[in-house]
Amino acid sequence: MNRILITGGAGFIGSHLAEKLLRENNEVICLDNYFTGSKSNIAHLLSNDRFECIRQDVTKEIFLEVDEIYNLACPASPVHYQYNPIKTIKTSVMGAINVLGLAKRVNAKVLQTSTSEVYGDPHIHPQQEEYWGNVNPIGIRSCYDEGKRCAETLFMDYHRQNKVKIKILRIFNTYGPRMQLNDGRVVSNFIIQALQNKDITIYGDGSQTRSFQYVDDLVSGMIKFMNTGDDVVGPANIGNPVEFTIAELAELVIRLTNSKSKISFLALPENDPVKRKPDISLIKSLIDWEPQVQLEEGLLKTIDYFKGSLKNIYA
Ligand code: NAD
Ligand code: UDP
Repeated sequence: MNRILITGGAGFIGSHLAEKLLRENNEVICLDNYFTGSKSNIAHLLSNDRFECIRQDVTKEIFLEVDEIYNLACPASPVHYQYNPIKTIKTSVMGAINVLGLAKRVNAKVLQTSTSEVYGDPHIHPQQEEYWGNVNPIGIRSCYDEGKRCAETLFMDYHRQNKVKIKILRIFNTYGPRMQLNDGRVVSNFIIQALQNKDITIYGDGSQTRSFQYVDDLVSGMIKFMNTGDDVVGPANIGNPVEFTIAELAELVIRLTNSKSKISFLALPENDPVKRKPDISLIKSLIDWEPQVQLEEGLLKTIDYFKGSLKNIYA
């Protein structure tokens, strides 16, 4: 049994990770400021003696005794990370410094949830870890992209300079139950719109692509990657490499929800990447893992979840 800290543990991915780590008999401490997470995501875990939650901002120093740290604290949806961009970059950079400082003090292993956004609007397709990316350093997405890139630098420097045991995963678009109704990312937006027969909002012409990973696949990969030997550091991509256009996603969501929604085309946000698809050969060579849940199956589970959330709101 390990004592494990999850920063951002009340968020979408963090709450699934906490649940699985508890099922595997660990002690889990969740640290969250509830900016985009919620108490309801972790309410079902509170009765477990091996679970506790601290309301704290990751930009403040952390004093705990732990064996492992998963660093997830950071808003992940463009709507939320652009709400207060200065806070977003502080969260990534100061958060990284604080979890690395903690890992150094208590000799813990620390895993950074980096992102496919470090590749920016990529010129290489699919994206491999060797690619250094095409990121605008001064655009509206930079607070997130550059914050995550700087966090990777900090992780590598603490590793090289102070021998801190680190792992870096570059997560590609992930979806599933417990995304917030107001999350603003494409999968939750389209499902909520379809369930309410409202217009599906495609930004741009819908020809841009993304590759969607179901949250359970991500979480199992994260834990396996954390459990690799100290020589395995990454960065490694983690995602489902099946690529869809956003227009295809809209059609699929409409079909699976039996919706009467029409499609409306809105302006494409600045610096929105044209295409994205992970090359996952590296992670497959490092751990026994590959995505198990394909888009249609994962969407059906997510649709069920949002049906419940919407019912609660209108009840
Ligand atoms: P999320 O917004 O649901 O979760 C983020 C959590 O961090 C929330 O609970 C939020 O309240 C908390 N948080 C934010 N700022 C904080 C701060 N300053 N101090 C303490 N807590 C703070 O997003 P998610 O999709 O669960 O993403 C989790 C992590 O995974 C993020 O770091 C994100 O960048 C990374 N990631 C996610 C995806 C994805 O597709 N979901 C892709 C790439 C990377
Ligand atoms: N998108 C869209 N409609 C929405 C939300 C997003 O067409 O209601 C598009 C967005 O412009 C992007 C893609 O879907 O091209 C994925 O967006 P998301 O915010 O989910 O993630 P990211 O851009 O960070 O990959």
